Amino acid sequence: MVRHVSCRPSPAVRRGSCECEPRELRRCVGGAAMVHGWSCKPPVKRRRDAASPAAGAAIRTRVTRENTRSIDNSSAAAPALGFTGTEDREAPRRLVPGSPKSRSPSSGLVGMAAESESCNCDGWAARDPSGVLSPYRFSRRTVQHTDVSLRITHCGVCYADVVWTRNKHNDSVYPLVPGHEIAGVVTEVGSDVDGFKVGDHVAVGTYVNSCRDCENCNSFLENHCSKFVFTFNGVDSDGTVTKGGYSSHIVVHERYCHKIPDGYPLEKAAPLVCAGITVYTPMMRHNMNQPGKSLGVVGLGGLGHMAVKFGKAFGLKVTVFSTSESKRDEAISLLGADNFVISSDEKQMESLKNSMHFIVDTASGNHPFDPYLALLKVGGVMVLVGFPGEIRVQPATLNLGARSLSGSVTGGTKDTQEMINFCAANKIYPDIELIKMDYINEALERLVNRDVRYRFVIDIESSFR
Ligand SMILES: [Zn+2]
Ligand SMILES: [Zn+2]
Repeated sequence: MVRHVSCRPSPAVRRGSCECEPRELRRCVGGAAMVHGWSCKPPVKRRRDAASPAAGAAIRTRVTRENTRSIDNSSAAAPALGFTGTEDREAPRRLVPGSPKSRSPSSGLVGMAAESESCNCDGWAARDPSGVLSPYRFSRRTVQHTDVSLRITHCGVCYADVVWTRNKHNDSVYPLVPGHEIAGVVTEVGSDVDGFKVGDHVAVGTYVNSCRDCENCNSFLENHCSKFVFTFNGVDSDGTVTKGGYSSHIVVHERYCHKIPDGYPLEKAAPLVCAGITVYTPMMRHNMNQPGKSLGVVGLGGLGHMAVKFGKAFGLKVTVFSTSESKRDEAISLLGADNFVISSDEKQMESLKNSMHFIVDTASGNHPFDPYLALLKVGGVMVLVGFPGEIRVQPATLNLGARSLSGSVTGGTKDTQEMINFCAANKIYPDIELIKMDYINEALERLVNRDVRYRFVIDIESSFR
């Protein structure tokens, strides 16, 4: 167990009014100190720690000026994507993003002294694994020549926000500003940006950087780049820890910014860039857009309800599999599913054997796979987009039907823009529950209890006014 003596939150941090950036990424790997990976004191000389296996992720992403160009951040991408009611105790101040006074040096380590004096972004952050969020001010980088800055108007609430605010993977860096379903309006563009202009409606999804020079990036599979940088709790190429969309503005390289067509509501656009693309990508990869074929959707949450909508738009016959009878009416009348099956009903499951061309499995809880695979026709494909604890499959279930079980996570930039355009053209809108920022702690609790239809979206614009 390693503890750093300086990793203590100041009283200001605990109150949520600290205006300091993380001084450096000193992730402790055990005990209470793990949650306090920052300090309001000047940086102390880093010492080399003996790395235990458990410390692997923390050690790998530790920041030094020397290694900022070679950080392998792929671990942060893994199970990323899958997922009060009082006024602010300390109302955040609102600054104009990008105004000269609010600018700060872009390099986390180089510009530390100036950063604490120029926090330019309002947000809400979790401070420890309790995951409780509260107001937090911090600095975003100034707009570089290929950057776009956007005023965030809305941010969807994904289960990934629960995972990392509550340190489920033991790699959370606090204060942690979650949110990777971001929609907003462009306020500033860099001198080399040609795809966006001030006033454009745009979205930023689950990642904000990649190497842009590997086989995957060159194939617009940036989500599979080994230098992929998660939108929050990732380590960017300048060494800063990324902060997500529960905040008033964000600055990203234009490649990771997506245009929202005129007329598409921003609050509905937000969930598209995680929930939407997560199911759209494998559906297109496996040619599920064939009218007349059949699709099973396992789980009816944020991802599942989008899979149903895409399935219907593709002309598929859609059957929803759920554990909750209470979702039957909505699945059919609101979402347009053709059939609804309680997955524990063995008789119904038996009657559907060998009937499906495709299945999209969005369930993240542990569940059996053989009963679903058995529903596939010969050569059928089941795609997993959730992150259950483990997968157990009888080889015969796969082999005898020449079936495929495939995985997928989010999508590349090209597919993301294509998906947004498809939604606009076909009037596909996520069903959302719009909330204010100060409802977020209750919303996350409801999300854990699957009590949301079907995506919470934070009205950032009015929350930070
Ligand atoms: Zn997500
Ligand atoms: Zn790459």
